[in-house]
Formats: sequence, structure tokens, C-alpha cells
Amino acid sequence: MITESMYEKDKKKYDYLIVGAGLFGCVFAREAALMGRRSLIIDKRDHIAGNIYTREVEGIQVHEYGAHIFHTSNKEVWDYVNQFAEFNRYTNSPVARYRDELYNLPFNMNTFHALWGVRTPKEAREEIDRQTAEARASIPDPDNAANVEEQALLLAGRDIYEKLVKGYTEKQWGRRADSLPAFIIKRLPFRFTYDNNYFNDKYQGIPVGGYTHMVENMLKKDIPDGLIEVRLGTDFFKVRDELSHCAEKIVYTGPIDEFFDRRLGSLEFRSLRFETEVLDEENYQGNAVVNYTEYEIPYTRIIEHKHFEFGNQKKTVITREYPAAWSLGDEPYYPVNDEKNNALCEEYKKLAQKEAGVIFGGRLGRYKYFDMHQVVADALEAVRQEVE
Ligand code: FAD
Repeated sequence: MITESMYEKDKKKYDYLIVGAGLFGCVFAREAALMGRRSLIIDKRDHIAGNIYTREVEGIQVHEYGAHIFHTSNKEVWDYVNQFAEFNRYTNSPVARYRDELYNLPFNMNTFHALWGVRTPKEAREEIDRQTAEARASIPDPDNAANVEEQALLLAGRDIYEKLVKGYTEKQWGRRADSLPAFIIKRLPFRFTYDNNYFNDKYQGIPVGGYTHMVENMLKKDIPDGLIEVRLGTDFFKVRDELSHCAEKIVYTGPIDEFFDRRLGSLEFRSLRFETEVLDEENYQGNAVVNYTEYEIPYTRIIEHKHFEFGNQKKTVITREYPAAWSLGDEPYYPVNDEKNNALCEEYKKLAQKEAGVIFGGRLGRYKYFDMHQVVADALEAVRQEVE
């Protein structure tokens, strides 16, 4: 016989338990709520927005987990995020500093002029062709680059490799370029125009008021009360037994291997360390992003956050970004999508397919580097599949 209290206990309070209040989890929760479904979002951090979290310091939005520029050519995604924030006209145009020399990125006519004094696309092409031909003549098997060094020399020639690629890549990976696998650099795109816009996408900008505010709006705007509940400072693995049964389904955006207690082994990541400083000056470097491409300087870039929003505050906030090795317990930033890790991830995906009540999403749940626009598109697709 089923008693009233047993029935109450078994009843699912939520449709979804969403692990991770990052972009994937929050887009999913919003769309589910618009279909009348209830979600409980938990995050082990003490804030929402995951890695796109921004925090206000001295009136400046500081990108706490690395510089984030929204860019996409997907109009549906662009219109989607514009519901929750006004985007400014920020265009990413990083500057690379090699010793005392400054170069515009991505590699374009401004870069080529600074490197070689060339003025026309024809002159630039000729110089690149000359240097890449030199590389082809000196590399034992030029059709099969043996490492990153050979690959970059074949694609771009010696000057660009030595000044703009070598040191930066070695710092990023913590290894010498001649011992890194060639696949790390697939292409080195050149632009034969005087255009410093880093991205080729149609739409680009930074949400006015910060990403955290954008995500807050996502969870609130037009959402009936009670359909989205957020619990911060809550690690899924500490409350798994208690919470797993409170929802019909779990949307899991943490590391896929951790969901399975890493029983097949650990997936590897690269990590980052950030050093943030408030400076008593108005303008430190004149640009939001300056890359340091020489090996001897231990950080890869300095971010000056106010330039993302054209700020004119009296002070400024800068962040030095240091690449770091990753071990369990460190913040996992970049998946290492080499053969070994991809093969292991495939094994975890087979286990994931057997978990009928769990949706694995986001950059950690899928073990793949995703830009924000891809995460939004993926989360929208995941919800669509729920209603089909
Ligand atoms: P996350 O934001 O990581 O959210 C996952 C959440 O799950 C986290 O908050 C985490 O705390 C939580 N979680 C994990 N495990 C548990 C657990 N056991 N219990 C509870 N909670 C848990 N994209 C761009 O489009 N433009 C850029 O300029 C750009 N710059 C980037 C710079 C850096 C340095 C990095 C690393 C990424 C950058 N990205 C950029 C990518 C962007 O950060 C991601 O696309 C986006 O943050 C992914 O969202 P997500 O929801 O998948 O993951």
C-alpha cells in the first residue's frame, strides 16, 4: 500500500538538477523555465556565470577567469544574448610585444609593415613566400612537419615564428616548440589588409555592465517566480545522494571523468594563474590585451580590463596571465585534446550514453574548448531535443 508520505517523498520536486551555473547551465535553465519546467541550479563556486564571471573593482568590470570577448556569426545566438545585455562596440585588436618591438595581431599588413617595412600585399606575400621556401629547403620532411617549430616555419617563415609564435607557444604549453606535436598549430592565418580586428565574425562586443549581469538577467527576465532556484557553494559530489533524486533529469556541466569517479583515468587539462593588480594610474598599456611573445617573460599576456568598456576611471585594473601545469584540484581551463586524452574521453562518452537521465553539456561535460557562442548554441539545441 502506498501511503501519502511515501508518495510525497518519491515525488520529484524539479524537472532538472543543473550542475554548474555557467553559460550552458543558465541558458538551459532559462529555456526550460520558459516551457514551464522547474530547475535547481547548483554550483560549487560562490557565484553564477562560471568562467565568464565578471566582478566590479574600482568601477571596472574585471574578467575574473580570463578575458572574454563575445563574437559570433550566428544571428540567432547574437539576438539571444542581446536580450539580456546591451553589447558595446569593442573589437578585439591585441598587440604583441616582443622585447621592445610592438606588432599588431592577427598577422596583417600592419604586422608585416612593422616586421619588414613592406607596404603592399604583394611585397608582404613575396617576403612570406621567400621565408617559407627557405624553411621547406631546410626541413628534412617538409610535407610532414615533425613538431610545432617545423610547422610554424613552414606556414609563416622564420621572422614570424621567432618573434611571434615560438616563445608564446612554449609558455602556453610549458614545453619547447621542437618537442611539441605539430597538430597544435593547424593554421596561421594571414590577412593582407590593414585590419587589426582579431575575429572574422559578423558580431562582436562586450556586454555593458559585465557578463555576470547578463547571466543574472538570463535567469530572471520574464521567468515566472519559482521556476529557477540557484544554490551556490554546493558541490554535486558532496550532495549527490541527497539531490540526485530530486529531479527527473540531471544536466551536468562539470568534468565528464569526475562524474564517473575517474574510474577509467583522469582527463588532462592546462591551467592558468591570474595575478590581478589595481594601479593608481589611468591608462597602463593603452589596449585591453597585450601579448608577451618572448619566452623570458613568464606571463603570456596582460589584460587591462577598463579598455573592454572604454572606461575613463581614475584607476585601472590589470591582470597578468600565466599558463600553468594542471593537476587534480587545479582549475581546469583548457582540455588537452591530444590522441590519448581524446581516446579516453570517447570511453567516458560511451559510459555517458548509458546514463539515460543525464545530459552532459558545456566545455567540461564535453571535454572540448568551446567559445561562448558555441556553448549558447549547444544549450539551446539540448533544450530543443528535450521537447522533441
Ligand atoms: P563553465 O563556465 O566552466 O561552467 C561550469 C560550471 O560548473 C562552473 O561554474 C563550475 O564551478 C561548475 N561545476 C563544475 N563541477 C561542479 C560540481 N562538482 N558541483 C557543482 N558545480 C560544478 N569564449 C569566447 O567566446 N570568447 C572569449 O574571449 C573567451 N575567452 C576565454 C578565455 C579563457 C582563459 C578561457 C579558459 C575560456 C575562454 N572562452 C572564451 C570560453 C568560455 O569561457 C566558455 O565558452 C564558457 O565559459 C563555457 O561555459 P560552460 O557553462 O560550459 O562552463
